[in-house]
Amino acid sequence: MLISSAKGRSGRPAESRRTADPGTAARLAQFFDALCSAPRSILLLDYDGALAPFRLDRFQARPWAGVSQLLSLIQAQGKTRLAVITGRPAGEIGPLLGIAPSLEVWGLHGAERLFPDGRRELEQTSPAAVEKLDVLRAQLRRDSFGGLFEDKANAVVMHWRGVAPQKAHEIERRTRNLFEPLAQMDGLHMLNFESGIELRVGRDKGGAVRAILAESGADNEPVAYLGDDLTDESAFCAVNASGGASLSILMRPQERPTAANVWLRPPADLRNFLKRWAQGSGRAGKRAPGQRSFVSRNP
Ligand SMILES: [Mg+2]
Repeated sequence: MLISSAKGRSGRPAESRRTADPGTAARLAQFFDALCSAPRSILLLDYDGALAPFRLDRFQARPWAGVSQLLSLIQAQGKTRLAVITGRPAGEIGPLLGIAPSLEVWGLHGAERLFPDGRRELEQTSPAAVEKLDVLRAQLRRDSFGGLFEDKANAVVMHWRGVAPQKAHEIERRTRNLFEPLAQMDGLHMLNFESGIELRVGRDKGGAVRAILAESGADNEPVAYLGDDLTDESAFCAVNASGGASLSILMRPQERPTAANVWLRPPADLRNFLKRWAQGSGRAGKRAPGQRSFVSRNP
């Protein structure tokens, strides 16, 4: 699916359909019809690769032009529960997005939760898992095989993005040899992503989506999830299993096998999708007196 950024005769953004995927435009239209008639909705977003281009220095990974403004508009409408679900520590997202008030962020692939009011929750980890991760951290600080070692509260991570293919293969081989024997012990498991592996404990992105849907009572609320990486597949599955109108979106330049039901390419498709969301949410019925708004709500 490609939503073109070309202008139609009306001067508004025109959409074109990939002939190989004729159902995508219809699926989007069906979803936005549901959004327009719903008083509330849920928009869940991965960050790196989905809202922002990758940067070797991840602290330079700012959103594509216009994205923060569109998210701010959707937030200000007060009808959408917005949350970022990312592999990063949750506290990194707010300064990069630059949205006030802050969005709800689930960090560490869902093991950490940062509320808009600054409260932070971290899933409990077993002492045995903590001990094993500590040993691994010390080992990788001494020798990270030429890759980039990242130390997370619930995980150790090895990155090889930007490394030459032969060297990347060697880093991956040595990392797997180290991680795989530990991956079945004490709740530890491996999480593969593009150009890296994580050995971790705790909730994954699918678990974060299920937690959000459960506390929202979201059976009748349209829900969408946007993500680009292998770690987003569990979130796609969780959204697909929800009871109401749902849309799982693979947001990346190249298509790949996925559980997502729509493929869009950033940044033009992303901006057009968020514009449609803002338009649809803006047309949705006015809130009844006393009905909650997601702007000031601390979920
Ligand atoms: Mg991503």
